[in-house]
Amino acid sequence: MSDHTPHTQVATAERTGNRATPNLIPHIIKGAKITSAERTGEVFNPATGQVTGSLPFADAATVAKAIDAAEAALPGWRAMGMAKRAGIMFRLQQIIAERKDELAALITAEHGKVLSDAAGEITRGLENVEFCAGVVQHMKGEFLEQAAGGIDVKQIRQPVGVVACITPFNFPAMVPLWMITTAIVAGNTVILKPSEKDPSAVNWIVEAFHEAGLPEGVLNLVHGDKETVDAILEEPRIKAVSFVGSTPIARSIYTRSAAAGKRVQALGGAKNHMVVMPDSDLDVAADAAISAGFGSAGERCMAISVIVAVGEIADELVAKIKERMISLKVGHGTDAASEMGPLITEAARDRVSKFVAEAEQNGATVVVDGREHGVPAEGFFTGPSLIDHVTPGMPVYEEEIFGPVLAVARVGSFAEAVQLINDNAFGNGTAIFTRDGRTAREFEFQIEVGMVGINVAIPVPIGAFSFGGWKDSLFGDTHMYGPESFNFYTRRKVVTSRWMLPSESQIELGFPTN
Ligand code: NAD
Repeated sequence: MSDHTPHTQVATAERTGNRATPNLIPHIIKGAKITSAERTGEVFNPATGQVTGSLPFADAATVAKAIDAAEAALPGWRAMGMAKRAGIMFRLQQIIAERKDELAALITAEHGKVLSDAAGEITRGLENVEFCAGVVQHMKGEFLEQAAGGIDVKQIRQPVGVVACITPFNFPAMVPLWMITTAIVAGNTVILKPSEKDPSAVNWIVEAFHEAGLPEGVLNLVHGDKETVDAILEEPRIKAVSFVGSTPIARSIYTRSAAAGKRVQALGGAKNHMVVMPDSDLDVAADAAISAGFGSAGERCMAISVIVAVGEIADELVAKIKERMISLKVGHGTDAASEMGPLITEAARDRVSKFVAEAEQNGATVVVDGREHGVPAEGFFTGPSLIDHVTPGMPVYEEEIFGPVLAVARVGSFAEAVQLINDNAFGNGTAIFTRDGRTAREFEFQIEVGMVGINVAIPVPIGAFSFGGWKDSLFGDTHMYGPESFNFYTRRKVVTSRWMLPSESQIELGFPTN
């Protein structure tokens, strides 16, 4: 049974805070909400461990319905004037900015991150909406008059078609806004498949797009898991796939999509190192390590997970980090005093605990054991951990933990620090803390990582640049949001034209010359 209640009613129910338990979180296809499904999933509040929502998982038939809607909307949408598209972006920006608290509350309720952090991710997502409001600039082509006698050449950008956007749990608003906003404003129509773990933020965003004036069918939301993603990848009508998630899944999405002839960008996981040089201010470095390591409970793809202490400063640095960790307040994201919330699931919490529990037997030193930190009894909480003397080969070094665990690797020199990072399989973000410009410049030159911070621990590029890692952190070649995403979501077409008089026409079998 499909429930085709108009989308505005969903919005009203959500916005009035009328969230019965469990809240039903529908697909939104052509503006209609659909809740029926053979398979469903549950959504938890990670701060309480309680089920708060349930959602349908789309099968191949539901995915096909969403693609039908996107395909039907494509001709009208790609013909929509750029100024009108920009107008939708301006209104969307206003709606999200004005109701940021509402969206942040949805994020915190299902992801667990503290409210200020949820508001922060919305602000970063809005940067792309603001960038996309300048669509006339980004979609402008090139023109060369008189490329040869009487011949002009122009290059124009056209949309790719129906595209799929598949997003992870850890930024339930920002990452969807990275993808769908550019895809839409460039004239594509979209199938969005968010994480099944915290889907409500995306339902809210889709409603906001419609409220801003987006025609129905341009943006279609299907919920689900692997089966839904498989159906998307198997659909020949999907022309491009944007993915953000863990490395094994990103690799497989890339391989399968490319084999099917789709355009694909698949961003994966990370193991971000922060180098602390002996000349740096250790208090500044320790503050940065805490913020970048434990913000959002370490569930950020740009979180710092390895501190690389260079030379003699290691003991002092570890002591300063430890001292700051003791007082970190772990609690409900809705509590203004909380600095760190819970992990997304019980399984994620247990996985983190396992890394900490096994660190000593693998030869590392547990300086702070997060399992002993005071945390709420219910929900999926754990405290921050600090593990020293970590070396390559140890699971705590090799694997992406995606939790509040900071590892410390001690090296003797700048060259060793660079080598360590360049040998690592991941290459998403990295940072160096130093007061020496020459060292910073060398780091920037030598390091094999896509996003680099000089005394900035989390160097997420602002919206006017693009976001992307290297090595196992990105499969594909275009980065996400900003200028590069307009390359991903458009095909360039080059038109060569000549307007000749009939008297100028002649038969010429040779290859054209000037
Ligand atoms: P995930 O890989 O488990 O899931 C991502 C998406 O893929 C979800 O929509 C999920 O439903 C779907 N999915 C899950 N298993 C699948 C399968 N077997 N086949 C097809 N699709 C599948 O990732 P997550 O746990 O939701 O998110 C955390 C991961 O995302 C971390 O590894 C983190 O580093 C990464 N991440 C990377 C970036 C980046 O920009 N590089 C940004 C955010 C998160």
